[in-house]
Amino acid sequence: LHSLLRDPSLLETRAYIGGQFVDGDTTFEVTNPARGDVIATVADVSRAQVAGAIAQAEAAQKDWAKWTGKERANVLRKWYDLMMANQEDLAVILTAEMGKPLTEARGEIAYGASFIEFFAEEAKRIYGETIPGHQRDKRITVLKQPIGVAASITPWNFPNAMITRKAGPALAAGCAFVARPAELTPLSATAIAVLADRAGIPAGVFSVVPSSNASETGLEFCENNAVRKLTFTGSTEVGRILMRQAADTVMKCSMELGGNAPFIVFDDADIDAAVEGAIMCKFRNNGQTCVCANRIYVQAGVYDEFAAKLKAAVEKMNIGDGLDDGIHFGPLINAKAVTKVQDHIADATAKGAKVILGGKPSELGGTFFQPTIVTGATTDMLFSSDETFGPLAPLFKFEDEDEVIALANDTIFGLASYFYAKDLSRVYKVAEELEYGIVGVNTGIISTEVAPFGGVKQSGLGREGSHHGIEDYLEMKYICMSV
Ligand code: ADP
Repeated sequence: LHSLLRDPSLLETRAYIGGQFVDGDTTFEVTNPARGDVIATVADVSRAQVAGAIAQAEAAQKDWAKWTGKERANVLRKWYDLMMANQEDLAVILTAEMGKPLTEARGEIAYGASFIEFFAEEAKRIYGETIPGHQRDKRITVLKQPIGVAASITPWNFPNAMITRKAGPALAAGCAFVARPAELTPLSATAIAVLADRAGIPAGVFSVVPSSNASETGLEFCENNAVRKLTFTGSTEVGRILMRQAADTVMKCSMELGGNAPFIVFDDADIDAAVEGAIMCKFRNNGQTCVCANRIYVQAGVYDEFAAKLKAAVEKMNIGDGLDDGIHFGPLINAKAVTKVQDHIADATAKGAKVILGGKPSELGGTFFQPTIVTGATTDMLFSSDETFGPLAPLFKFEDEDEVIALANDTIFGLASYFYAKDLSRVYKVAEELEYGIVGVNTGIISTEVAPFGGVKQSGLGREGSHHGIEDYLEMKYICMSV
């Protein structure tokens, strides 16, 4: 991997604590899912080291909070510039540890960096409020202040952007930040720590604590009184565990949890555009995102046409090592992910669905899997209620609007949803009635730093991105003054 990098010093295997790169008590291995080989041996920090990182963050935060918004903005802007200047190396590291095609990895680095840029700008715009007093001698002022130390736990599917989307607003607000990256993808996190150090982010304000034992680190984050905010992206199951643990310290939580995104194609849709949107939405990152379409509902009149066109388009796409050119599908993250896709296909075919494309592991071996489309999907099949998180597109047939809205909403999740239609009153009605935090209308891509990303129901709490995103890292204080 070193030889593929212009700046090999970005490949950092140590933890970053209190402004120093340090070893852990032990180490753990990181493998490349496309080749199965070990690419790095990374510091495995102990719970005591995590506690140390939190203590250093707590000390550093006090001064960081006193910096003006513009001063914080300036170093964050440098961090952003360094990320973009090193986009290619960061993308290569990301693909090597996670498997997504290099073009997607480059896109993720730009997307991840955009949160640092956006929140650098927002650092100057953390406005309070004055409220007319309730008595003649009273003056009321509302201050927005940083919460304090924020700790994050993030997944492997976006090893860069899931961290920057949290660290950007946290640092802009004046919080210190301790990041625990997923054990499968710590190198993208330590690489941005190298750049944070070069950008001049003060020691202790941003730390990275890789560990193979997620639950130990999670317990330290939740039980340590110095941590005031826990921000998590991952499964609803782990989110529930963390919220239970955080209850004892009444810690503020932001939770970006699982989804089960419906993607609806109405009979008045532009079918070619819907096919294109479905491919981006379903198959990006091999289906391994929490906003990927999981259930594709197609109105009866256009069902066959949509299925045929989707099949024809996906057939042309290439599977392979993400570091090679022209690849659309890398490997799945691990064997467990492959098993889940296979279970969902087996369950569906046993209940009457038909595989019209793929359906099997790829001849490339490893965790490569053929992109798969099944027709005849019904509500009793596993993917109706459970996120596949893989390259499986199930096509459900529906007759009318109210029926499909009810089907789409029939889930405990509420993160992203999508639909394609042209009729204006239909567009308004469906957009308003879908119980989701995000609705893509005639588009399959909804992620941007300028909009509030987040879910309703059991998909989470809080929003990331946009000027709203910084609120998750601020406390309100009101000062009541008698004059
Ligand atoms: P995914 O399917 O994306 O891996 P998880 O919710 O299992 O979703 O994992 C998301 C992150 O949470 C990962 O970094 C993982 O290591 C971490 N994690 C898993 N279990 C726990 C736990 N009990 N406490 C804290 N973190 C955990």
